[in-house]
Amino acid sequence: MEWIAAKTGALLNSSAAVLDQVVQTGSRLETTLSPSAMKVVKGVLGNDVLSAGFFLMIVGSFYTFFKDLALQYYNEFISWFYVSVEVQEGDECYKWLSEWVAERPLEKSVRHLTVKAVWPTEDDDDHSYYRDDSHKDERPKLLFLPGMGSHVLYHKGHKVSVSRERPESASGENSEQSRLLASIQKKQSLTISTFGWDMRMLKSIVEDAMNESYKKKEGKTTIYTSQPYDTYWSGSSTRTPRAFHSVILAEGLKEELLSDITTFRDSAQWYHDRGVPYRRGYLLHGPPGTGKTSFIVALAGHLRMSICIVNLGISGLNDQQLDQLLNNAPRNSILLMEDVDAALVKRKAGKEQGGSNNVTLSGILNALDGITAQEGSIVFMTTNHIRKLAPALIRPGRCDRRMLFDYADRHQIRGMFLKFFLSRSSAGLANNEPQAEFNVKRPAASSAAAAASVDSKDALKKEAHDAMIYRIADEICNVITFESSVTTAQLQGFFMIHRDSPETIVEKAPAFLEELRQE
Ligand code: ADP
Repeated sequence: MEWIAAKTGALLNSSAAVLDQVVQTGSRLETTLSPSAMKVVKGVLGNDVLSAGFFLMIVGSFYTFFKDLALQYYNEFISWFYVSVEVQEGDECYKWLSEWVAERPLEKSVRHLTVKAVWPTEDDDDHSYYRDDSHKDERPKLLFLPGMGSHVLYHKGHKVSVSRERPESASGENSEQSRLLASIQKKQSLTISTFGWDMRMLKSIVEDAMNESYKKKEGKTTIYTSQPYDTYWSGSSTRTPRAFHSVILAEGLKEELLSDITTFRDSAQWYHDRGVPYRRGYLLHGPPGTGKTSFIVALAGHLRMSICIVNLGISGLNDQQLDQLLNNAPRNSILLMEDVDAALVKRKAGKEQGGSNNVTLSGILNALDGITAQEGSIVFMTTNHIRKLAPALIRPGRCDRRMLFDYADRHQIRGMFLKFFLSRSSAGLANNEPQAEFNVKRPAASSAAAAASVDSKDALKKEAHDAMIYRIADEICNVITFESSVTTAQLQGFFMIHRDSPETIVEKAPAFLEELRQE
């Protein structure tokens, strides 16, 4: 009661002050205005139409003034009965809470929604957003979020209010600069409020949202991306990890890289003791289609890490934002800069055409040197043209290991062939274990246990098939060799075409090589 009395008192006082101001302004006019100006004022007041307009103008101003005042006190009064939590876009909580809201039924009266098309992952069993289940494989699912403004939903029998606000462009313009300014100054916000004074319910909503989001990502590889003008990782998608054994590299290369990274991840103390920045950079170079990106994606899955794809060519990115982006990377993630040489060339071309990308080489160097937010940062850069890279970019400290991903050698040609044609159990893949290692060695003898456990006719058929595959694998390595300069991606394409007829591969190989030479 005291509070209400105090607020009403304050309201009356401020209204009285305004009236006082108007009277004082009137009397001050007489003394301050020149006689000719005063004549004009009197002329206006003497004219019925003009004075009516003048009167309406004053009434209008009063109305607006009191309406704003009343709204402000009303909001303050109402907020007294609610507890709320606000989160801004860019913070991880924003994503968790947006998903949480999208998955809860909104009050039927909600009339303004924002819709997002989301492609389900292969093992996504939530089809609640499909109106017709028969299309779930070829169409995205629709994720409905309440639109901008306030909405109500129900959670565990309680009414929860959700309010979404969008920042307005600084000047109302739609220019590159104003969008950049708007994105830096203000972000979208999401406020969740409930009736009462107890914060526990809101805290549990945020925790639930976080747990649900992490649960969905369990066993998946999360790939983060940034949008134009963002200094945070606004986009993310999850995918089933790529099986580590499915990437076939030159003999020993995969093991060497994995052991280097594992040693690095176990060496935090070593780095701290010596005062060396705890980060490690890798450069994978070689012709396109040799598995550089595939290896990084598979590695992230194997180490249960996420990937942040740094797109250096994106609009609106400048040196300072790049620095922020790298330092804002979610924990336990690999930073991936693909085709660094091409990105810098594209930037130059884009700038000539009036684009707004301002990342410079020195900006990239500073950003790489300045990654301090994450303990144990791992940066991967890939390029098809190592010679085009500035030496400063690949000197130790920024790039600690350089690995050549070359044209397929004998080990890879054989490995790729077996991966495509060996029966799953012989390849060591029958249990669908992504961590399982691919079996490129020919078993010494037939597995008696397997023959006993399954129908012996089938076991014999499989054994005969695999014996043929091992034989063709040896033969194909005599036709396609390292000197043929074939990439693993090209081999994949060739084997895919003949996936149902491995026995024709050796015969078809010369034509395949000839076709590549003509390209
Ligand atoms: P890069 O990054 O070197 O250009 P990618 O990783 O993008 O090559 O490979 C392109 C395609 O070829 C992918 O579908 C991938 O599965 C396949 N591929 C390329 N190299 C390999 C490899 N070494 N092992 C398995 N698959 C590969």
